[in-house]
Formats: sequence, structure tokens, C-alpha cells
Amino acid sequence: MSEVEFKNFIEDIIDGDLASGKVTTVYTRFPPEPNGYLHVGHAKSLCINFGMKAKYGGKCNLRFDDTNPSKEDTEYVQSIMRDIQWLGFEWDKLLFASDYFDVMFDCAVLLIKKGLAYVSDETAEQIRESRGSLTEPGKESPYRNRSVEENLQLFYDMRDGKFADGTRVLRAKIDMSSPNVNMRDPILYRVLHATHHNTGDKWCIYPMYDFAHPIEDAYEGITHSICTLEFEDHRPLYDWVVNNCDFPQPRPQQIEFARLNITNTIMSKRFLKKLVDEGKVMGWDDPRMPTLSGLRRRGYPAAALRDFCDRIGVSKANSEVEESYLQSCVREELNRTTSRVMAVFDPIKVVLTNYQGSETLRVENNPNEETVTYRDVPFSNELYIDRADFALVPPPKYYRLKPDGYVRLKGAYIIHCDEVILDDNGEVKELRCSVVANSKSGEDTSGVKVKGVIQWVDANTCVDVTVRKLQSLLTDVVDGITDFNLRFNQDSLKVVTAKVEQSLTTANVEDKFQFMRIGYYVVDKDSTPQNIVFNEIVGLKDSFKPTK
Ligand code: ATP
Ligand code: MG
Repeated sequence: MSEVEFKNFIEDIIDGDLASGKVTTVYTRFPPEPNGYLHVGHAKSLCINFGMKAKYGGKCNLRFDDTNPSKEDTEYVQSIMRDIQWLGFEWDKLLFASDYFDVMFDCAVLLIKKGLAYVSDETAEQIRESRGSLTEPGKESPYRNRSVEENLQLFYDMRDGKFADGTRVLRAKIDMSSPNVNMRDPILYRVLHATHHNTGDKWCIYPMYDFAHPIEDAYEGITHSICTLEFEDHRPLYDWVVNNCDFPQPRPQQIEFARLNITNTIMSKRFLKKLVDEGKVMGWDDPRMPTLSGLRRRGYPAAALRDFCDRIGVSKANSEVEESYLQSCVREELNRTTSRVMAVFDPIKVVLTNYQGSETLRVENNPNEETVTYRDVPFSNELYIDRADFALVPPPKYYRLKPDGYVRLKGAYIIHCDEVILDDNGEVKELRCSVVANSKSGEDTSGVKVKGVIQWVDANTCVDVTVRKLQSLLTDVVDGITDFNLRFNQDSLKVVTAKVEQSLTTANVEDKFQFMRIGYYVVDKDSTPQNIVFNEIVGLKDSFKPTK
């Protein structure tokens, strides 16, 4: 089969712009508002914007959209930079929208001088009321026909702090009967006596997003301003601003795509912040949080997230991706990259009655590795296996351990179960087994055929660790109830203990492993030398079924 390269619609647009000579270098930007941590939805936007930079040998800026003085925080600025770097992207320029407040002010003055903006004494409420509706045109403001001189003076007075919050605004003079409500004399500037984290008290007027964003893009020479679909109806205003503020060609072009939605996944910074503020999670980087910091702590590899964003593609139609699809991308990456180690969650003691002393076995780390590597695993006459791998009354075709049965211990020997010791409640307490002669893995000449291979840990050297079993923070939608508040999963975190092989005592935070036959786990930052804490990343089995 020949390889056909499918391009998404954004690439088609860019190809066209390059072919026509409209642009020579592709320049994109990622513009987060520093009012929370980035989440997995932002990963999609990051992959698209930085993906275009990589694909076309272009540039991509990181620009903090900090034009709203009230909700922003430098903790968020730091976390956003860290998360973008972790995802593997490098920005060209690091910028703050608030650095352009002077440019924006000058643009507003230019529009006033052109007769394209006016100061209005209406309240936000009055402006909303006179905007009309989808079926009715809006009503013109009584202040619409102020002279240029009067508007200039009033705008300077706004800047100079002569008006209280909410008493004056600067509006664009466009068309009150436009079929697009966004074009009905939108507000460009408002009065707000607030201290800004970057500009302090220099300003008491702040630009609106729809005015600020196109100016930022145009000023930086962004060629393709990629955003989500809810801004589609704002595009005429975007174009109006860049065209009327006389920016040089090529002027930036806004392109909208469908935002990423994932089942049972919160994609709202506001709601994620609420969970943090109410203490429902351990913080923005709680391993259950769909923030990039949370997914990182959960053990999701950056490469898996990039792969996921690549595979779901870019479209203009809103849809919801299955959570299990993301998990299957994670599993695929971990399967390729992690060492297989042994852990036992529900131990039964095994005593090998015909084995003396101890030895160190060399066990293969990962069969998928190009060059196979090994690690040391201690072995002695006392082991633990998982309760689930022994059946007192086995069902048919049971290949794990049973009374008078055989099983292979992974990387070690075949054992035979000679005797079962029960406790007072009739529960299995201990298994007395014997090692089959000449059955060592890799040099087995015993002639004994076994179908089952199970994991184990050496009782003398294994360590107890804490394991967090994690589930989605939201329960499934039932009876059409989608409200996050009503879907909060009370059982998303379970803490259990496990016994793991000695090699894990040297693991570092963020190291990831496959616990053989169980799932994938990552070392959490809450680990101490006395107690390693693991987060469950994903199980071994894939539950994703592609729909036809
Ligand atoms: P939220 O609604 O969660 O607060 P936001 O859109 O306000 O998100 P921004 O900081 O403004 O967050 O987002 C930065 C960029 O990321 C924007 O270009 C935005 O379109 C994009 N983005 C945000 N959420 C998603 C998503 N779910 N899928 C794709 N892109 C997204
Ligand atoms: Mg936003």
C-alpha cells in the first residue's frame, strides 16, 4: 500500500497561502489566559500551533493573554511554561498581551480619529438591551454621533481616571443592524480601576478580548491565528480590527477548529479550579486531574499525548472522544518503553521446601527493547504470589497454581504445589511447594510442560509500597444529567498496599513500570525513602473499540 499524506483543513489553508505568496513564513501563537493550569484540551491547541511551526519551518509564540486584571496569577504563568516544555514544545517569543496596552491605546485613538469609535455613557446593561436579537436589529446609541474631538477628549479622560467603573465605554462604530450581533458597535474598552499583575496601576481602562487579540496577533506578525469554533462569529470583528488599525500586510487570518472534548473529562479551567479551591483534589496536579500537570503526575507520557492529538485529527465538527482512546495511546507508548517488574497486591506465602539458600536471577526488562537489558531479581525459598493466581478448587482449563499442579514463576523456576495450609477461617495461608529440577528459565531441560506463568516476589527482599488506584473524577452521564457537580465520582481514589521486587527501591519520581500482568504504574512525588508511592496509570487491557 502506498503512503498517502492526508492534510487537515488548516494545512490546506496554509498550503494555499504559501502557494499564492500571501505569506512566506508561517507564524502561529498559543495564547493561554493565565487563570488556571493547562488541561488536555489545551494540548490539542498546542499540538496544532506548534505542529504548524514544525511542519512548515515556521515560528510559534507563547503569549499570555493577561488583559483581564482580576483572575490572573504568576503561579499559573509558571505552570503553563513548565507544561508546554514538558509536552516537548519550544516557543520563539515569550510575550504578555499586557505589554501591548500602549499599542492598543494608540489603535483605539486611531479608530476614534477615523470616526470608527465613540465613547458611550451607557451602562453595560443598557448596551446589552439595545443590541437587538438574532431576529431584530439593534438600536443606535444616543452617543454614537459625538464628534471626533469630543470622543478623543472623553477617551483621554477615561484613561486619566476621571470616570468610575462601568460609567463609560469605548465602542466601535460599525453597524447596529448587522446580522452578526458581534458587529453591532461592540465594546472595545471599559473603565476598571484594578491593579494588574504586570502593569500595576498604570491603567484604569482595559481592552476587551475581541479588540486586544487581533491587535496582539497583527503586532507580532502572526499569519494564522488558530482558535476554537466559538470564535467563528467573532471573525468579522477580528478582520475589522486588523484592517482598520492599518496593520501592514500580510494581516493575520483567524482559523477556527473544533475543541477537544473527552468523555468523563472536565475541560473547564473554572470547574477544575473549583475542585482545587474546595479541596476535592490534592491540587492542580492531582493525578486524577485532566490538567497537563495532573496527567504528567499520573504517568501519561508526553509522547502519548502528542500521538493522541495527532490521531484524533483536526476538524470543524464538534465531537467527543472516548477516554479509552487516550488511554490506549498511553498504553501503547508505555508498552514500548517501560520495564516489566513484579508486584503482588494480595499475597499468599509460598515456601519452597526443596530449595536452599538464595540466588540472584537475571530477568529481562522489556521484550520490546531493541537491545535487551536485564536486571537482578533476588530469589529464595520464601516467596509471595498473588491470591488470584491460586485456586483451591480450580475451574476447567485453569493454568495457574492449584493443589498438585505446576506453574512457572516468571524468570525463575517451575514449581509444584505439594501442600496447602489453611487458616482457621479456611482461607489459604501458605503453600508448600517444590522446585522442579532443571527448570530454570532460559535453561529448562526438565521436560515438564506448563501453560501458566505468574509473577512473584521474594519474601526476604521485597518491599511494601503504597499504590493509588485512580478513576475518572466524573461518573458516566446517566439520564442525560451532565452537570459536573452532580457527577463528581466519590470513589475516584483508592489507596492499597502491594509488595514489589527489590529493584524498585532505586526508582525515581516519574519512573514508569509495567507491573507484570497487572498494569502500568508511576512513582509519585509523595514517595519517601521509607515508602514508595505509585499511581496507577492505566490497566493492561484495552477497552477502546473503534466505531465503524
Ligand atoms: P477554559 O474554558 O477551560 O478556561 P479557555 O479557552 O478559556 O479554556 P485559554 O487559556 O483561553 O483557555 O486557551 C488557550 C488556547 O487553548 C485557546 O486558543 C483555546 O482556544 C485553546 N483551547 C482551550 N480549550 C480547548 C479544548 N478543549 N480543545 C482545543 N483547544 C482548546
Ligand atoms: Mg479563553
